[in-house]
Amino acid sequence: MNKKTAPIREIASDLYMITLPMPFRLGHVNVYVLANGGKAVLFDTGLNINESRGEFGAALDTLNLSPVDIEHVFLTHFHADHCGAASHIRQASGATIHMSEQGARQIQKLDEMNAMIERTGSYLKAHGLPEKTIGFIEKFFILFRQVTSPFEVNAVIQPHDIITVGTRTIEAIPTPGHANGHICFYLKDDGILISGDHVLPDITPNLGPDLFDSSFFPLEAFLASLAGVRELPVSMVCPAHGAPFPGLKGRVDEIIEHHRVRKQVVLDAVRKKERSTYLIACEVFENNLTEFDKFLALNETYVHLLELEKEKIISRKTLDNGIIHWSA
Ligand SMILES: [Zn+2]
Repeated sequence: MNKKTAPIREIASDLYMITLPMPFRLGHVNVYVLANGGKAVLFDTGLNINESRGEFGAALDTLNLSPVDIEHVFLTHFHADHCGAASHIRQASGATIHMSEQGARQIQKLDEMNAMIERTGSYLKAHGLPEKTIGFIEKFFILFRQVTSPFEVNAVIQPHDIITVGTRTIEAIPTPGHANGHICFYLKDDGILISGDHVLPDITPNLGPDLFDSSFFPLEAFLASLAGVRELPVSMVCPAHGAPFPGLKGRVDEIIEHHRVRKQVVLDAVRKKERSTYLIACEVFENNLTEFDKFLALNETYVHLLELEKEKIISRKTLDNGIIHWSA
């Protein structure tokens, strides 16, 4: 039986994009391989599922590489589609797994699934998400956990660390926002930014709180991180979802504008009527959302409310039933 090979695209000399399958929304995730004289460095890993690992191995094979040749794995963030197969690759090759400090902490937290589910459940409940949807999200978290096999981070990436691969130097650009501790990898000589989920061509990445770090303000961090990459001389953005694209600045400006407008829409909704995050989300987003989309819509609304609260434009109060209401 022929093994299915994931699509490969050569981005620059020795740099390849491999598009791996993902049975969730978006349907795929891109990982990037930098070949270096029979060895390789990998940026993100795809999910820890047979289909993805099989296609990844077959794709490496066409490059005359195998998982055994991977010396380093650099991870953009802790979501399963980005780091799920890290432990599998480490087992195969002994590769060093590099990740930000916050990412490493979040990976540890995945092992405390009960605490994670409990905290997520009370956050969602306080913000008015219906019980049925909360039950669905808890199940989703468990599933998501199953497609990330546990691994240890062997090397913590510090902001602006310089990584040398062959003759190339790569800078780790801190880009917290979509995830606390998110990192983009900037290949200076090539003018390439491996952007993870920070800058995507077709969608804006979902923003949500880090329930274990209340000092993390997702929207504020995300906008600062967008400003942090905007001026980089980049000719090609290599995202984790969607096709590589030129025009980083223009895309950054679109995303910033999207959040400016959304923040205003959220504020208008609060001014109209005092209510919970979920009910505000129901007004801001279209009806007929799937259970998962309700969760994303709540997160997205919450991060804008959090920002408006920080600016003292709105305030929250907790009702006797534990539900948080916002008012202008
Ligand atoms: Zn992500």
